[in-house]
Amino acid sequence: MTPEQRKLFKQEFGEMTNEEIMEQLREWHDEGGCEAACSCGAWIEADGTCEHDQPSWLRALGWI
Ligand SMILES: [Zn+2]
Repeated sequence: MTPEQRKLFKQEFGEMTNEEIMEQLREWHDEGGCEAACSCGAWIEADGTCEHDQPSWLRALGWI
């Protein structure tokens, strides 16, 4: 992860337990999309990027 993604990760997932994070990622994975690891929080394809060229959380966290 880039430093920027690390900061966003804390904002997005900081309050969640590891288990809750896994559950969230699994849900997104099952839905076939994911929020972008970007402050825009766009819904994108799991292997895509948002309009700011940021990957999905699934990819940023190495799930896919
Ligand atoms: Zn974006």
